[in-house]
Amino acid sequence: MFNLVIFGAPGSGKGTQSQKLIDRYGLTHISTGDVLRKQIAEGTELGKIADSYISKGHLIPDDLMVDILAQEVDRLRPQSNGFIFDGFPRTIPQAEELKKMLERRGEEVHSVIGLEVADEELMERLVKRGAESGRSDDNPETINKRLKVYHSTTSPLKDYYTKEGKYTSIHGSGHVDEIFSRIVEAIDGHPALGR
Ligand code: AMP
Repeated sequence: MFNLVIFGAPGSGKGTQSQKLIDRYGLTHISTGDVLRKQIAEGTELGKIADSYISKGHLIPDDLMVDILAQEVDRLRPQSNGFIFDGFPRTIPQAEELKKMLERRGEEVHSVIGLEVADEELMERLVKRGAESGRSDDNPETINKRLKVYHSTTSPLKDYYTKEGKYTSIHGSGHVDEIFSRIVEAIDGHPALGR
C-alpha cells in the first residue's frame, strides 16, 4: 500500500490533483470535505452538525473527524492499494491520530505533498469556485476565515511532517499538468508504490 497526504490551503488544488493521482496510481481518494458534504446533502444528523461548522469556516472537532476518517478507511480498505488523504489531517492532533490509526492497521503515511499557493491567488480561485459550484463556504467572508484557520492551525503540519522526513513542498501555481508533473517527480519511484 502507498498512502499519500495531499496537503494545502483551501483552493490550493488538492481535489484537482487528487483526481489525476487516482488515474495514474490507482489510489483510493478520501476527501473529508466530500464525505461531510455528502452527509449534509443527505440531511443526516452528522450532516447537520457538520454544516454548523462548515458554513462558518470552522473546523469540525478532532474527535468527530477522526472517527469519520477511521470509518472511511475501514470501509474502503478491502478494495484499496493505498489512499490519498485530501483535507485530512488539518490539525496536529489529527496527524497524531492518523499515525496511530494506520499503525494499528500495519500501515503508515509514506509521503505528504504540500501545494503552495499565495493567499491572493487562493482567494481568487475560491471566489470563482463559489460562483460556479455554489458551495456555501466559498464566499469572501468564510474564505477569509478558512485561510486564517489554515495558517494558524493547519500549516504547522508542514513542520510536523518535515520532521518525519515525509514532506515535499510543491509550487502550486501554473498549469494543472505542470503542477501534476512536479508531484509525480516527487513520488514516482517511492519504494512503497506498487507494493
Ligand atoms: P474541504 O472540502 O477540504 O475544503 O473541507 C470543507 C470544510 O469541511 C472545511 O472548511 C471544514 O469545515 C470541514 N473539514 C473538512 N476536513 C476537515 C478536517 N480534517 N478537520 C476539520 N474539519 C474539516
